[in-house]
Amino acid sequence: MSNLPLAVELAGLFGLSEQGLKLNPIGNGHINTTMLLRDKEQALVVQKLNTDVFPDPEQLVNNARLIEKHLSEKAENALYSLEIIKHLPTTQGEFLADINGEKWRALEFIGGSFSEEVVKSAEQAEIAASAFGQFAAALQDFDAKQLFPVIPNFHNLAMRVELFKDKVAKDVVSRVATAQNEIAFCFDQFGLADELANLRNVPLRPCHNDTKINNMLFCTETEVAKAVIDLDTCMPGYWLCDFGDMVRTCCSPEAEDSTNLENVKVREDIFHALVKGYAKPLAPFITNDELQSFWLGAKVLPFMIGLRFLTDYLDGDNYFSTKYAEHNLVRVRNQFALYQDVCRQESVLKSMLEAI
Ligand code: ADP
Ligand code: MG
Ligand code: MG
Repeated sequence: MSNLPLAVELAGLFGLSEQGLKLNPIGNGHINTTMLLRDKEQALVVQKLNTDVFPDPEQLVNNARLIEKHLSEKAENALYSLEIIKHLPTTQGEFLADINGEKWRALEFIGGSFSEEVVKSAEQAEIAASAFGQFAAALQDFDAKQLFPVIPNFHNLAMRVELFKDKVAKDVVSRVATAQNEIAFCFDQFGLADELANLRNVPLRPCHNDTKINNMLFCTETEVAKAVIDLDTCMPGYWLCDFGDMVRTCCSPEAEDSTNLENVKVREDIFHALVKGYAKPLAPFITNDELQSFWLGAKVLPFMIGLRFLTDYLDGDNYFSTKYAEHNLVRVRNQFALYQDVCRQESVLKSMLEAI
């Protein structure tokens, strides 16, 4: 699919020639529109930022560039060895371009790489977790207060609970009756929000906040980690949340909208690989309390995203894109099944954290 007028416009902005110009979708991101723009000489990634999700794209780009700078300094001192996704300026020296009111940016294209949608093996999970661990370790001395809160309260479960209760009370699309069981289940889990709010001895850290496997690139040739990408949601947070999101997105053999709930469970070998991969690069910085708090992350993230799917379902599917009427509810059931399996396997999974 080539979209020439847009391609020509982007080429003009970012200094590519019209000779052999091509614009094609790349990857499988769910938030922004990501494309590869090529002329005869060079290739770069162009991204239309989703301004419904990120109402302040200037701040988003500014955050990512601050991180880019910090990582580049680390790399110069041999303290970070993954590739860094750098923003590329327009011919006018801007890092954000406007095309008919839409916001576009360009990033260096990392060639010879591939991304995965689902974890294929424990080895792969460990490689991914290690990449996110190296990223977190390199940022541990970065002042996260510099980062603008692009999505305020992103991992604030107490706030998500309040929002959920409000949607239950309003029942704007009359779906409360259909989701009665799931709603009742939620009301029994709100102690988790207190656990998170009452955390002690766990520092706020610069976090990635979207540690899904498709947010890193593997080397095509060697299959080692090449880069951590998608810095859109980098904000202060807890490492337990970044760990928990890896558990949520890697451990189940089923996709998050699978209805095969029997098979939605935590694969122990993958969990173990994530613990090993993530904790190793963090070892010089992490405290034991913080490491043990990863358990809370493993519970909170599947529950919280389930709660968000349910909130959106009750609100008429405004936030997450849905392919059919009950799509969000299907995701709710899936994520709650995963959450329940994490709880069921508590002693086994905790012992893996304790053994580190
Ligand atoms: P979203 O915020 O929508 O998830 P991403 O920044 O994660 O968007 O990009 C979507 C996909 O595009 C990634 O999963 C990856 O496959 C590909 N991609 C993004 N940036 C690059 C890059 N700099 N080099 C190569 N591929 C990239
Ligand atoms: Mg992404
Ligand atoms: Mg993103």
